[in-house]
Amino acid sequence: MANTVIDVMSLYPKDMNIYGDWGNVLTVVRRLELYGYEPHLCTYNQGDDWPAHVDMILGGGGQDNGQQRIVDDLFLRADALRDLAADGTPMLTICGLYQLFGEYFETIEGTRLDGIGIFGVYTQGHDVRMIGNLVEHCERFGDIVGYENHSGQTFLREGVQPLGIVEHDGTGNNGKDHTEGAQVGNVIGTYMHGSLLPKNPAISDFLIRTAAERRYGQFEPRQSDAQRATLAHIDATTRQARQVAMQRPR
Ligand code: GLN
Repeated sequence: MANTVIDVMSLYPKDMNIYGDWGNVLTVVRRLELYGYEPHLCTYNQGDDWPAHVDMILGGGGQDNGQQRIVDDLFLRADALRDLAADGTPMLTICGLYQLFGEYFETIEGTRLDGIGIFGVYTQGHDVRMIGNLVEHCERFGDIVGYENHSGQTFLREGVQPLGIVEHDGTGNNGKDHTEGAQVGNVIGTYMHGSLLPKNPAISDFLIRTAAERRYGQFEPRQSDAQRATLAHIDATTRQARQVAMQRPR
């Protein structure tokens, strides 16, 4: 099968995978198949060999102790990740890995975990958790629907672009400045679990399209009629699910 393989990496799924984040991996794999691509999924956990080729990286959230478990290994892979990010590899990092893709995360107990600095953001543990359903407004992907649950308050350095804007106090990156997430090039960081991607196909398709274009020069779905119909059905159901999710109480 020529020009159809897409190498997807799930980063630290053993420790960084809560509130449905694995659903992001399932969604990307399924949509790739329905577009006629051949997803090759690699799960990378600490101590594993780094694969020869990666087209897309998906990383989830985790508790503070999960972050502590992976951080040393993350630094072993920091250069590879920074190079891939600088080179335009599409990546999605949720919550705990979003924090560790920033400059640092200082827990509420005062333990400082350095991050790998792909995002110009830093995170301070806080005694009030930000928990609840959330809709954010995003120019790049339209409204994003998800669920946040974190104690870390993340602040963006000057000039760093948030992923979206939240309307309500007490939500988003830090509860204060109405930003949520961050984006640099093709790397997205966000607090949105839920899972995020099943409810936000615009982000899935951005990751897929970008991965295909970088690897093969273009995004060229080769779908059967059945695959096209299945995707249309999923997208119609997703539009309804988004409407329901947007009405949910926080
Ligand atoms: N431990 C981090 C926090 O609570 C990350 C939580 C998460 O990934 N959901 O801020």
